[in-house]
Amino acid sequence: MKPKAANHKNLKEINKLAILNNLRKRKLSRAELARVIHLSRAAVSLLTEEMIEEGQIHETGTVRSCAGRRPILLGLRPDYCYTAGVSIARDKTGIGLVDFQGNILCYMEIDDTGNAYKILDNIAEGIALLVEQLKIPYGKLLGIGVISPGPVDTKDGRILKPANFTKWHDIDIIKEVQSRTHIRAFLENNANSIAIAEKSYGCGGQFESMIVMTVDTGIGMGVILNNQLFKGGNGFGNEIGHTCVDINGEVCDCGNRGCLELYASRSAVLKSARNISPAVESWPAIVDRAIDGDKACMDIIHRQAEYLATAIVNCVNLIDVDAVIMTGDIVYKPDILLSLIRQRVNSQAIARNMRKIPIIISSLPEHSEILCAASVVLEKYFTGEIGPSQL
Ligand SMILES: [Zn+2]
Repeated sequence: MKPKAANHKNLKEINKLAILNNLRKRKLSRAELARVIHLSRAAVSLLTEEMIEEGQIHETGTVRSCAGRRPILLGLRPDYCYTAGVSIARDKTGIGLVDFQGNILCYMEIDDTGNAYKILDNIAEGIALLVEQLKIPYGKLLGIGVISPGPVDTKDGRILKPANFTKWHDIDIIKEVQSRTHIRAFLENNANSIAIAEKSYGCGGQFESMIVMTVDTGIGMGVILNNQLFKGGNGFGNEIGHTCVDINGEVCDCGNRGCLELYASRSAVLKSARNISPAVESWPAIVDRAIDGDKACMDIIHRQAEYLATAIVNCVNLIDVDAVIMTGDIVYKPDILLSLIRQRVNSQAIARNMRKIPIIISSLPEHSEILCAASVVLEKYFTGEIGPSQL
């Protein structure tokens, strides 16, 4: 395929995006920027001057230097624009606002009783309220990122038929959100959005290729390959929760048999925990009891590690990634579970003799689902897919 010719204007925009993407990771001086994006210092000075005038970046502090003039650092200007994040999950619906640097400014849980259209009304009202409270001009809203369990049709903006999510089946959610808010909106499945956020704002930034696995009411997976989200042919995501870990297992809602979710999702784990003690109501309770010496709870953690490690080995044998990042319920005191998973994966994965695959816990902040949802829009901006203009 022939490369696209870049005219003068395009080239300038490409260089500006390169500056933004570098400043997104950390503050840099003009000289450092020139070095990392391979442009002359004069060219970087001209471009950054323009970007300061546009309000995208600003001068923010100086570099420590032993001698001579201290170079001035440049960084993203947090108030350049704002993004709304909407997270629709099986157990709760939340909204919030995120600034241009990726800071979560506010969070609100939405009343999600009633049908999907009623909840959509509540979401639109909630966004309007937050925007008003923070005194953000509507023109500064970059867009709304909406995330939901998969599968979703990201192109048409429709939630398809995720298991145990009947209320939202076949809802044209993007059309509905846009008609209520008059702000452009984009849909992504929650696992993919976590992968995008981990890459830009979490510990995933150090890896070019990684799997992000989320374990809570469902089990999802986002895949970053060569710094880009792997969406597959139709953007339906990667349904790790519906891959088979027991060929003789029960039939799942999805139609497959012995799916991982039937054994390792929150409800599956709590079901087996209640067989031991009806008092165990959450994953943290299981972990706390195991730490206190409860053998039955320790057995549950061992079994959970077996199922998750089996799925991870299947994944890393299929896709040669640099790391696996885990999130969801399991971030609570994760040491026991994590060390069991690491042992199994690093004794069973094909690559074990060449290298150990890092398996780490997400470093995203509290209410990270809002940052994940907002990241869907921010990612489109930072890759040049969308500009600052509104609908
Ligand atoms: Zn299934």
